[in-house]
Amino acid sequence: MNIILLGPPGAGKGTQARRLVDERNMVQLSTGDMLREARRKGTEMGKKAGVIMDRGDLVPDEVVIGIIGEVLEAGDAGGGYIFDGFPRTLAQADALGELLEKVGQTLDAVIEMRVDDEALVERITARATCKDCGEVYNDNTKPIPADGKCTNCGSTDIQRRPDDNEESLRTRLLAYYKETSPLIGYYYAKGDLQTIDGLASMDDVATSIASALR
Ligand code: ADP
Ligand code: ZN
Repeated sequence: MNIILLGPPGAGKGTQARRLVDERNMVQLSTGDMLREARRKGTEMGKKAGVIMDRGDLVPDEVVIGIIGEVLEAGDAGGGYIFDGFPRTLAQADALGELLEKVGQTLDAVIEMRVDDEALVERITARATCKDCGEVYNDNTKPIPADGKCTNCGSTDIQRRPDDNEESLRTRLLAYYKETSPLIGYYYAKGDLQTIDGLASMDDVATSIASALR
């Protein structure tokens, strides 16, 4: 089963994707994580993308479509793909359809995680992530442990993302409404869309996703 998690920055796509990976052996494909990884490695593409990401703008379609295409062609689908943060434009959505067809896969569900903007700003400006395992912390609900060690993997490399500041966030939200939210209509028309309440507790959101996948 291959699914898309759709929703604004801070909707909790990454958190839920990680659960699906643990519980169902699915493969998380986060273009945001892949771009950050390319940046960390210092590739030419990574450097260019980094500047755009810090501003909160979208990286060009051909770049992210290229990245996803490579992974899909490599072909390790495990228990199915979770597309997290991709597609983000109509051109990317079309390209994904073509890529899946080419590798003999289907898209089985698109889950829209609905959250209001105020909650997003609160969540994102309070957020920090373990660089080694991806565990997500939140100053209000799940603070970084006093000893600075990740509760999941013991790493001390817990960081805030450079684009998790109010100004970049405003640009990211604008990009979401302008470029990405039309995908809600696109997938609704195709009959693939399921909408869930992303403001519920993490466990309740996981339960809604599980029932949407049945
Ligand atoms: P969030 O969903 O919290 O904004 P992501 O990690 O998904 O975070 O994305 C971070 C940044 O990476 C985006 O603001 C954008 O610059 C870039 N990016 C990630 N995925 C895409 C994509 N599919 N298309 C264009 N840009 C992308
Ligand atoms: Zn960790």
